[in-house]
Amino acid sequence: MSRIFKSPARYVQGRDVTGDIGTHVEPLGGTALVLGDEFVLGLVEDTVVTSLTGAGVDASSVTFGGECSTTEIDRIAGVAEERGADVVIGAGGGKALDAAKAVGEQLEVAMVSMPTIASTDAPTSALSVIYTEDGEFEEYWFHDNHPDLVLVDTAIVAAAPTRLFRGGVADALATWFEADANAQSGGDNFVGGKPTRTGTNLAKLCYETLRAHAVSAVEAVDRDAVSESVEAVTEANTLLSGLGFESGGLAAAHAIHNGLTQLEATHEAIHGEKVNIGTVSQLVLEGRDDAFVEEIIEFSLDVGLPVTLSEIGLDDPTRDQLDVVAEAACAEGETIHNEPFAVEPAMVRDAILTADRLGERARADRS
Ligand SMILES: [Zn+2]
Repeated sequence: MSRIFKSPARYVQGRDVTGDIGTHVEPLGGTALVLGDEFVLGLVEDTVVTSLTGAGVDASSVTFGGECSTTEIDRIAGVAEERGADVVIGAGGGKALDAAKAVGEQLEVAMVSMPTIASTDAPTSALSVIYTEDGEFEEYWFHDNHPDLVLVDTAIVAAAPTRLFRGGVADALATWFEADANAQSGGDNFVGGKPTRTGTNLAKLCYETLRAHAVSAVEAVDRDAVSESVEAVTEANTLLSGLGFESGGLAAAHAIHNGLTQLEATHEAIHGEKVNIGTVSQLVLEGRDDAFVEEIIEFSLDVGLPVTLSEIGLDDPTRDQLDVVAEAACAEGETIHNEPFAVEPAMVRDAILTADRLGERARADRS
């Protein structure tokens, strides 16, 4: 199979870049539809519409219902068609962006991704996670095209809750470990091929950037401040993590995350928080040196990320519960099978138990 790397056509990031969106959208089309929930539209609509209109792009908005479901996608596509939109701009978190991606693909029009938080690596990818109207995971839709433009305003990202930014760090921290495992095993990536050196090494740069900047970036965001470290980590959370996972591939950490979602008690924890438990568990599963596992746990503590099961809602999980998690993580087709060795559920359960204990111990040492 061939090696494939794919990415969005253009990535723009900086303080107050929302005001420049018109310049970047103008080459893509003449009529834009802006999709965002009530809160996000309140935050950015005026600036976006003024900038688009100033660049000669007709602009109107539609309020996102909150769920990236087929019904909602069809409704928004109807609105876009009715208004003759040739550019769909999704603003907000993962679900609004995923809905906008699906609409762009369905209508074969340009798509712009404008994340207002740096909490996951969804903004750059060519896939949408589809949910039922009640919010249950349904399936992944893989699109032919990536967003034509990803625009990230770091002033908006820094003003959002710090917990979301931290979650983005955790999602990005997993990227290199997973891409590395996948490169070793020769597994598939998410763009229909094997990883290129480029995809794998962007994941590595993601990791190095976080290690160099995440602690001060989190402190800055906690004060709604935009520093050079905030710029570096926003890029790592959004662009490097996105390209790294999609073109590099995933492995155990995200499969363990998916397994953890089987337990209702973890639903209050955000994506990245559960991924972090998956990351430490992956390192244990791979038999990494004690010193290295400890280093990653310490880094997690420095950033303010969960390292124990109780911190993601699982106070006293039974062995049976962890077996459910491990079975789901090892389901056929799960990315855990991209690890460079055969993985069985019992190994996963025991890795999670061990990671949890190491996390408890490191946390106790600090108090
Ligand atoms: Zn993720």
